[in-house]
Amino acid sequence: MVSDSLYIDVPSYAFKALDALESCSYEAWLVGGCVRDHLLNRECHDYDIATAASWEDSEKALTNAGFSVHRTGTKHGTVTASMDGQAIEVTTYRSDGTYSDGRHPDSITYVRDIKEDLARRDFTINALAYHPNRGLLDCMGGIEDLYAHKLRTVGNPSKRFSEDGLRILRGCRFASQLGFSIEPETLQAMKSHKMMLTRVSAERITHEMDALLLGDFVHDALMESIDALGAIMPEIVACKGFDQHTPYHIYDVWEHTAWVVQRSPATRLARWAALLHDIGKPGACFAEGERCHFYGHGQLSVILARSIMERLLMAPSFIDRVLTLVRIHDHQIAATPPSVRRALSRLDGDVDMMRTLIGIKRADALAQSSLSEPRVQLADDLQAVLDQVLEANDAFTVKQLAIDGNDVMALGVPQGPAVGRVLTSALEAVIDGQTPNEREALLAFVKVQLKIGVCP
Ligand code: ATP
Ligand code: MG
Repeated sequence: MVSDSLYIDVPSYAFKALDALESCSYEAWLVGGCVRDHLLNRECHDYDIATAASWEDSEKALTNAGFSVHRTGTKHGTVTASMDGQAIEVTTYRSDGTYSDGRHPDSITYVRDIKEDLARRDFTINALAYHPNRGLLDCMGGIEDLYAHKLRTVGNPSKRFSEDGLRILRGCRFASQLGFSIEPETLQAMKSHKMMLTRVSAERITHEMDALLLGDFVHDALMESIDALGAIMPEIVACKGFDQHTPYHIYDVWEHTAWVVQRSPATRLARWAALLHDIGKPGACFAEGERCHFYGHGQLSVILARSIMERLLMAPSFIDRVLTLVRIHDHQIAATPPSVRRALSRLDGDVDMMRTLIGIKRADALAQSSLSEPRVQLADDLQAVLDQVLEANDAFTVKQLAIDGNDVMALGVPQGPAVGRVLTSALEAVIDGQTPNEREALLAFVKVQLKIGVCP
């Protein structure tokens, strides 16, 4: 079906690329995510063109029109054209052959008809094409699904997911980003073919999971996709339906987790820490009469979270930051300047980690029963005190002290670890408000400490 009633405001470089191809008599359309996102009034971050031209002919036409062209994927007919710092992918119409590795087609065939190209695409809402003069081309019912907020595969979902397991996770990710529901047959096939996900590379899984966790509708998506996600993170499965049996909780561990993710700051760090913060709860649980306790669950969460993130080949520094947040997410911090300075000092002065920790604490309390409301207030108070501490330029790291190692050595402390110990005890005094962070006061404090033999 072609409809010319819809108008998309195509950026000039994309318009020029379409024109470069069409003026050489090669049909060309904008396709996929950019059409979908324009129709949903969402920001579009990458434009793709499908064309009847071979990649060699695309390269010629686009170069003649002033684009610089890179051969980014000529094995499957793709070149990337850039102009004024903007890039656009141009791919020859193709149809995919059989799939035997569960991820990539064994062969591709170049085809003459855009309709055949649209048929190889994953979801109906991603199988739309648009041209500024010819309008919208919808052969798969994508527009109806887009307006009904439905995710449905192009063709039989079992077949499509058994060709390429990545599509399962892309579906979960689109549900989270767009707030669409997954059409029942498609959802059922996502679950029944979830083991296809084991064939997808760790990097691709991490990339899709990052986007899923940052989606605006992540709670609903996590609730809907838990069964499928079990194939990549079996450690989370025990959370589903795990009743917490405490007056502080109204949700099972998984629904609680889904709400904490949804309400945590929208950063990759916060969302991963939120996803994994309670993963150790089912294992740590013990019952006492009617109630359950989860003492030490943070430690168990760390063990399970580490194995997930290492398997997904995440950067060690990112893993460390997530694990720190998981481990300390329920440590108590009073909303007072000394307590906040101390917490910052334990985090090596990392303000971003502190803000994230407070954000997770707030989300954690919001995702519990009304008995936890005071903890929401506590998180807000912590945030206010943190701002106050930063505004006042309070010291919470040794580097921020008004004295340094040379000053300590000038007081007779020999070079070596003792200097660090003296500075640390001076910092603790500043954090606790025993002494101001001023040079003379600190030197006097250190002198007294040395005299009474408290340090080093
Ligand atoms: P976004 O760019 O927002 O991540 P997208 O749908 O544009 O989403 P891309 O990876 O840019 O995703 O892919 C562009 C288009 O290519 C998709 O809209 C879809 O039509 C098609 N596509 C991408 N990956 C697959 C896949 N694994 N199977 C089938 N078609 C796919
Ligand atoms: Mg895209």
